[in-house]
Amino acid sequence: MYNIPHMSSSKEFYVANWKQSGKRGEALKWVLEMGQEKNLLADMNKVIIVCPPLKALDLMEQEILIKQLPIAVGIQDIDVKIFEGEKNTGAQSPALLANSATYVIIGHSETRRNNKLTDQDVVNKVKASQDAGLITIVCVEEVNQAKKLKELFGNYSGIIAYEPPSAIGTGNAASPQDANRVAMKIKEVLPSTVVLYGGSVDGKNIKGFVQQSEIGGVLVGNKSLDASFFKDILRNA
Ligand code: PEP
Repeated sequence: MYNIPHMSSSKEFYVANWKQSGKRGEALKWVLEMGQEKNLLADMNKVIIVCPPLKALDLMEQEILIKQLPIAVGIQDIDVKIFEGEKNTGAQSPALLANSATYVIIGHSETRRNNKLTDQDVVNKVKASQDAGLITIVCVEEVNQAKKLKELFGNYSGIIAYEPPSAIGTGNAASPQDANRVAMKIKEVLPSTVVLYGGSVDGKNIKGFVQQSEIGGVLVGNKSLDASFFKDILRNA
């Protein structure tokens, strides 16, 4: 049902990053409420992706399938040790998760910081995820992290989410023009990417971001949890 877009297409990506939210009832309610406005979701230029915690992944995927909604499902991270050939109790392998998801977020600033991820760890996760067939959304806080990706990975093809930490969850979004300048620099380093902006996006500021020439969509935290706020973002984009 869900068609994977080519990175070269002019589609805009709207990624809902649920972090640790997503109890059963919340997940079911979100899918139900999103499905109440199928025409909003049916815009062929928009790729809508929800990344719930693993606990809610299969439930959401099933509900989305039952309701025939054009929403793809992603995961928020994968474990890096798995593909070093060792067993690893408790770890989540990309191969397993690729059964349930199409996308994976890698190297979110919170994950980099809290799990002490190195740039090489991020690259290892990207390789393992792409080998398993997942489409990667690599988060970078600044152009230097994109340069590191280029240095350690080569010509990365996929999605990059530019997320300045000062804008994440603070209500202080970057200015669309500044975000566009950074997106342009990222694309100079990694030309085969779609660059998203993330950080305090809401229904009021969305237009300013997606109007920018180098910004191909947004990654949304807080305002993605409630379907009505997320639909506002889609509606006003
Ligand atoms: C995020 O967590 O990646 C994010 C962009 O959050 P928020 O939209 O809440 O700033």
